Amino acid sequence: KAKKHLGQHFLTDENIARKIVEGLSFENYNKIMEVGPGMGVLTKYLLEKDQYTYLAEIDNESIEYLKKNYVKITEENFVGDFLKQDFAFINNEQIAIIGNFPYNISSQILFKIIDHYELIPEMVGMFQKEVAERTAAIPRTKDYGILSVLIQAYYDVSYMFTVHENVFNPPPKVKSGVIRLTRNPKEGLVGNEVLFKQIVKAGFNQRRKKLSNSLKVLNIPEALKTHEFLDKRAEELSVNDFIAFTKQWKENL
Ligand code: SAM
Repeated sequence: KAKKHLGQHFLTDENIARKIVEGLSFENYNKIMEVGPGMGVLTKYLLEKDQYTYLAEIDNESIEYLKKNYVKITEENFVGDFLKQDFAFINNEQIAIIGNFPYNISSQILFKIIDHYELIPEMVGMFQKEVAERTAAIPRTKDYGILSVLIQAYYDVSYMFTVHENVFNPPPKVKSGVIRLTRNPKEGLVGNEVLFKQIVKAGFNQRRKKLSNSLKVLNIPEALKTHEFLDKRAEELSVNDFIAFTKQWKENL
């Protein structure tokens, strides 16, 4: 029986499962980590590939089910809670992430991926449609926000397809969206990441206000106080604008 507090909705459509797995390129990495394998609807297609598959699952019943029903899966595959991963055990090798994610921790999963982007060249996964759309959103839209800017600073995002509620057991309340992330850190970001995140978060936390107002909490450097971006709202700045602005800010600290 599905456990609601673990975000369990099991995908029942094999064609969709196969399409999600085929969203990965399987190039330039030898390892994959699946988040929340559940009863293994994606896992069985991953096991056909050359890459080694780690399984991050916290539900013991699912773990027992997977070990019992798939000869290739043993205790060795399991790595526990995805949000607790530090990826130390992969010894700096590259690893792709895949999953039909538990929707209660969607943003935390995405932030975890950004925190380890140097190890993660690719991610394909399903989120609630609204979150999937936010990651792919462009400036001057209502979906464009912290998640869009932080993800797109590190990854190219492509929205693959929408999935209807009725192909899950039990059906979730909302539609789902599958996205693909391909690592492509934007120029000028590296080394300025802490400040970049602070500026993006402060800007969108008061998204109706001009940046001259919303960024006051961060003590805008004197030399930047007449910067043209301060006259705009966060949603009017592109990802590259935010990065360029962060760089100038840092040079004037
Ligand atoms: N992959 C299966 C499928 O497509 O049918 C299950 C998907 S279900 C939406 C989400 C899965 O994530 C559940 O199996 C749940 O137990 C697991 N899960 C929940 N929180 C987790 C966490 N913090 N780390 C790893 N897995 C988690």
